[in-house]
Amino acid sequence: KQSKTSQIRTPIVCVLGHVDHGKTSLLDTIRGSSVVDTEAGAITQHIGATIVPIEAIARGNSSLAKMQFNIPGLLFIDTPGHHAFTTLRARGGSLADLAIVVVDINEGFKPQTIEALQILRNYKTPFVIAANKVDRIHGWRVHENESFATTFAKQNERVQGMLETKVYELVGKLSDLGFNSERFDRVRDFARNVGIVPTSALTGEGISDVLMMLIGLAQRYMTDNLALSVEGPGAGTVLEVKEERGLGTTLDVILYDGTLSVGDEIVVAGHNQILTTKVRSLLKPRPMSEILIEDKFERVKSVAAATGIKVAAPKLEGVIAGTPLRVVRGENRDEVIEKVMSEIEDIQVTIADEGIIIKADTIGALEALSKELDAQGIGVLKAEVGPVTRHDVIEAGTIKNPLYSAIIAFNTPMLPDAVDTLAESPQVSAFESGVIYQLIDDYVEWRDEKKR
Ligand code: GDP
Ligand code: MG
Repeated sequence: KQSKTSQIRTPIVCVLGHVDHGKTSLLDTIRGSSVVDTEAGAITQHIGATIVPIEAIARGNSSLAKMQFNIPGLLFIDTPGHHAFTTLRARGGSLADLAIVVVDINEGFKPQTIEALQILRNYKTPFVIAANKVDRIHGWRVHENESFATTFAKQNERVQGMLETKVYELVGKLSDLGFNSERFDRVRDFARNVGIVPTSALTGEGISDVLMMLIGLAQRYMTDNLALSVEGPGAGTVLEVKEERGLGTTLDVILYDGTLSVGDEIVVAGHNQILTTKVRSLLKPRPMSEILIEDKFERVKSVAAATGIKVAAPKLEGVIAGTPLRVVRGENRDEVIEKVMSEIEDIQVTIADEGIIIKADTIGALEALSKELDAQGIGVLKAEVGPVTRHDVIEAGTIKNPLYSAIIAFNTPMLPDAVDTLAESPQVSAFESGVIYQLIDDYVEWRDEKKR
């Protein structure tokens, strides 16, 4: 149910793309110097995330300043990459409402760019492309923090032509992958076309356009998804499980719905078990101005979605990243436990009669891998979170069709005894990588070699 006001929660944004194309720099530029700004509307650092309020975005953008908004701002997940995106799993989908895919305009698409696009397609997540490092185009004249239109108009014809050519190369590549796209200022229908924004994370050029595009996507296409109650019992996803000195095991949680308070009973999940505990403290990073205070964290009594928060509580040792966290309040505890269990069991992996064995480090990663295998018509016989074990190798060895005697390990290691067993099992092959696209290529190559 919608609350009395038309307020909707802050959309959650992830940044994906190939290594070194500028994901971290882009996030840093978005967070910008205004992190130290203490006025109202200042950008605030949360655990694992940064909230950029709409006022801060509009401040540097005259066309935005005139518009009406019903979203409070954008919440950027601080860890870039597809891994964070897939870890942030909620209700079988991704927690991220929107994404930015960063691509170095001078290098074009690379394996992880393609992987990011495949993941976003599988999760049906709207995104914009930041065609980054435009300042590296030969002859580019920098106009710091200007919008794309302003800086583009001030480039000479040769540079403009070069940028157009590079954008069209991206459009062509995207079309091969099944996406219609256009330079963002030429897109009429954002539901059908992906917008490409030329940017420089280094000089800030085009960054305001990226933010404006994200807001546009959120306003137009996501209001239903975003119209969640910010008042009910909290629901979130565990981003990381961390040891903190003096606090023990803590959870970095992205709260996407409701409120979470000190003293709340929460339900979380570990390997094959559900646990309940009581929140002892809720911790936020200290503002930059108080950086000299020894205690890294500031304690708060209560928080509301969407936000990133560190949760300290007893018994958190076995909790795994990517699993849900829910508050017991009003509802009966068993029902909440039931909900958490069904969210975990609801791993969206299609199991075939014939197929390979897949392993990954988190539920979300497993799901992302399985979706891509499914899209490529490769069957999965078994899918599990965790490292590759000796048992997995033995099981792969018993698979009748030799083309499926393979194990794909995504972001997860092989245990030493699995390596030993593998050495004694010439019919079984195992593929390890942090890139889904790479894993599938390696497997397909191995399989096609065997077919001959
Ligand atoms: P990530 O691996 O995708 O997070 O990439 P980084 O943000 O770490 O950037 C990789 C390198 O590219 C760093 O040396 C950055 O300073 C540089 N870089 C990132 N964005 C830009 C840009 O827009 N222009 C230029 N010239 N360099 C950039
Ligand atoms: Mg980085």
